[in-house]
Amino acid sequence: MSSRQTFVIAGASLAGAKAAETLRQEGFEGRVVLVGEEAVRPYERPPLSKAYLRGEVGFDVAAVHGEGFYEENDVELLSSTTVRSVDPGAKKVVLDPGGELGYDELLLCTGATPRRLSNPGSDLAGIHYLRSLSSCDALRDALAEASKLVVVGGGWIGSEVAASARQMGKEVALVEAAAVPLERVLGAEVGAMFRDLHAEHGVELHLGVGVDGFGGRGRAEEVVLADGTVVAGDLFVVGVGVTARTELTQGTGIAVDNGIVVDEYLSSATPGIWAAGDVANAYHPVFERHIRLEHWSAALNQGPVAAKNMLGQRVAYAKVPYFFSDQYDLGMEYSGFATSWDQVVYRGDKERREVIVFWLDKGTVVAGMNVNVWDVTDDIAALVETRRPVDPGRLADPSVELSAL
Ligand SMILES: Cc1cc2nc3c(=O)[nH]c(=O)nc-3n(C[C@H](O)[C@H](O)[C@H](O)COP(=O)(O)OP(=O)(O)OC[C@H]3O[C@@H](n4cnc5c(N)ncnc54)[C@H](O)[C@@H]3O)c2cc1C
Repeated sequence: MSSRQTFVIAGASLAGAKAAETLRQEGFEGRVVLVGEEAVRPYERPPLSKAYLRGEVGFDVAAVHGEGFYEENDVELLSSTTVRSVDPGAKKVVLDPGGELGYDELLLCTGATPRRLSNPGSDLAGIHYLRSLSSCDALRDALAEASKLVVVGGGWIGSEVAASARQMGKEVALVEAAAVPLERVLGAEVGAMFRDLHAEHGVELHLGVGVDGFGGRGRAEEVVLADGTVVAGDLFVVGVGVTARTELTQGTGIAVDNGIVVDEYLSSATPGIWAAGDVANAYHPVFERHIRLEHWSAALNQGPVAAKNMLGQRVAYAKVPYFFSDQYDLGMEYSGFATSWDQVVYRGDKERREVIVFWLDKGTVVAGMNVNVWDVTDDIAALVETRRPVDPGRLADPSVELSAL
């Protein structure tokens, strides 16, 4: 009988692929099985609303590893294979299209799925959601034929798709229930910067109004807004948030609360079960609460941390949350986690959109966003991490080094 251990990773995602890589880097000699329902090897999703969607780069740019990586590193990549269920008692998973796998440790990296609208007409053809490579390919093909795209939802995905479509020369309308795009994360004041950006690039904005439904014969031809406005188009994309893919936990006793609940070591309370990436609601030592992050950097960095802990190390995931976005000629990075704040401080030129924005709560920086200003994220993250009160005047003053604060 073999004493070789088997580590199974459910979800051949960014988090899963980085975990597999780390297991080998750390010298693990057992079996590593990476199970993914998609047909392709693991890839990063950010290009799917940006350069890949616009047809400027191919799949290889998005792939986490080169084609030969998995074989070279003895990682068993089971593509087009779904983990159907988990049995934590027997320590095995059931696969579709067939078979079972026993595991010593199991990492769940099943990610998230777009929230779907249920308004009348939501199931008409021509309404797209964007998450996977195949959904991106379908949208890209449809965009090539379309003349007017209507985007429902002014979050990150909706805003980036709107920008990409404009860059591709399409007419674009953006519908958002909040007063400005990105209001949920950035607040109304800073979100206005993105409203103006899209308006300047010719996006027809419908803000502060929800969607009643879609109309069309056979396929969507218009979206009807709550105030009665009818916005016509020949292609529709909905980006109204995502939900964690926790379906594998059903009936297992693994705790779920807005994602799989794990501690700062990314361990669930069920022995041998770990979670990383979009699916994980992990305790964050800096913010002293559980946070489920839907960011590229969390997947990139939590995968390796989970892998190390599966090997018996004790590494807490305490990285300050980070994400980035590119829209037209605006590039931004956001570090921190702000759910409420009482002050917004600007350093730089807000009008030219070369600025660092800080969100403060009771005098401490809870998040910062650099817009077309670079190489400052470490300093911003350090400010968030220290949780020490800062002088807003010095924070706003570009002559004061951020590292001196
Ligand atoms: C279009 C787009 C653009 C984005 N842009 C940015 C950006 O600019 N900046 C940023 O910070 N973040 C961005 N993100 C978010 C970022 O891509 C995600 O945070 C990241 O992909 C999460 O990675 P993950 O490893 O947790 O899971 P995912 O990438 O969601 O992958 C999970 C994988 O698991 C598979 N799976 C699920 N259940 C099973 C099962 N039972 N069996 C087998 N396989 C299963 C899924 O099919 C999927 O392949 C973007 C996301 C999208 C969709």
